Amino acid sequence: MALQSVPIPILSPELLRDILGERRIQLLEDEGETVRDALGTRMVLNINSTASGGGVAEMLHTLLGYARGSGLDVRWMVPEAPPEFFTFTKRLHHMLHGVDTGISLEGPDRDRYDEVMRHQMVELKSVVRHGDVVILHDPQTAGLALPLMAAGARVAWRCHVGSAEANGATERAWEFLRRYLTGVPTVISRTAYLPDWVDHRVSVEIAPSIDPLSPKNVELTPEFSRSILQAAGLIADGGHPEALTFTHRDGSRGRVERTADILQSGPPPPADAKLVVQISRWDPLKDMGGVMAAFAEYVVPRSDSHLLLAGPNVSSVTDDPEGAVVLQQCMAQWAALPAAARERVHLACLPMQDPDENALLVNALQREASVVVQKSIAEGFGLTVTEAMWKGCPVVATRVGGIESQIVSGENGILVDDPHDLAGVADAICTLLEDPHAAAEMGQRAQQSVSEHFLPDRHLEQWADLVLRLLRTDPHGAHHVGAKSSALPPK
Ligand code: UDP
Repeated sequence: MALQSVPIPILSPELLRDILGERRIQLLEDEGETVRDALGTRMVLNINSTASGGGVAEMLHTLLGYARGSGLDVRWMVPEAPPEFFTFTKRLHHMLHGVDTGISLEGPDRDRYDEVMRHQMVELKSVVRHGDVVILHDPQTAGLALPLMAAGARVAWRCHVGSAEANGATERAWEFLRRYLTGVPTVISRTAYLPDWVDHRVSVEIAPSIDPLSPKNVELTPEFSRSILQAAGLIADGGHPEALTFTHRDGSRGRVERTADILQSGPPPPADAKLVVQISRWDPLKDMGGVMAAFAEYVVPRSDSHLLLAGPNVSSVTDDPEGAVVLQQCMAQWAALPAAARERVHLACLPMQDPDENALLVNALQREASVVVQKSIAEGFGLTVTEAMWKGCPVVATRVGGIESQIVSGENGILVDDPHDLAGVADAICTLLEDPHAAAEMGQRAQQSVSEHFLPDRHLEQWADLVLRLLRTDPHGAHHVGAKSSALPPK
């Protein structure tokens, strides 16, 4: 099998009524009905590279779940491909973020990429019917766009990564993709990421969203948060052994019982410790090592807080072959810290076997944190920022990529201009630790801005608009897609 189906939960938009209010729910329901009528018996198939771990998978569970809950035939598939393919597409991903790996994208790598695409097309031809809508995600799927369009599907390619600062690396990565995407309707998290050759009349900007009701974001009592963090070994005390059960998204009962793999020199932090937390994949661009260095050098002498760096168990994210290497680097860096800093820095790999259990642990960490950090060197959007903001947690993040579209520095979080500025990151963390009142107010404003801009209704409305426009196009002539007023203006 070249592609695997991913189960999508059925999430009724009705569930969001208390959070969104009457007017927003009504708009959502109307939109769902319009798309349902327009789709008829056709489906909307999504293809991305992994079903768990990372922001795209996180977002698709929600977006597609509510689309299904609106009665739409929405499906989701992930490809299986050799590890070298994902090593190569990870390189492309870094280059789109502006990081030059110095390695050519042509030759055998392009040949393998084309071969993987051909292999997947063979299977897709028996899955996709003429007139179906297919939304492809990120570079791992770009090569499917033109063959699917030629086969009569209505296709859009959605890119979740990119950099507003073009350089040699971004140019070479986009040049690699150009042959697969010329004339293909494109969706991008920020318009500024697109190269000039992408036809801006057939492109739209759509930012991601979070699901306030998912295990990742649902309201948790402090008692439950502490209980599950203690059970997972992430804090030392404060929990209740009885308070470990939860309801999965599919309605079944679950219990948080797996422990995290933790590297620490003493006990975990006590429940009343001030926690500074970064949660990310183990990826060089998330710069977990930079957070550790900033904390050890500048925050440890100024506060008694603890730093917790948490990421997924490294064997679990199939499209991210670098995770183990980055984790090893962080472990070596931790081992070399002075003892006083080492005992206040904790490295945790969260269990991933049960996605809802993992999500609850992320949720509880974001709620228990005094400060959430996202010290990315580059960032397509940065859902971890949105998630923490939704919980009213003050965030310190770097002014890169999509983070800039979420945080207004000093208002609903703090942005550090230079992503390599360790002292600046540490100073922002200490500012928030030292003034909990101002930090709480910032957190409240953060929650308000997520409520206005990054909840599912805004996202679904734009998604529905995209699907409607794709349905109106001639499958062989993408040039009609962006003729509407919501098409992006030329750069
Ligand atoms: N995440 C998770 N478990 C982890 C680490 C990360 O569920 O151990 C989630 C995190 O909560 C967020 C997503 O992975 O929903 C990361 O998305 P983001 O946009 O921040 O970055 P990406 O990984 O897509 O580059």
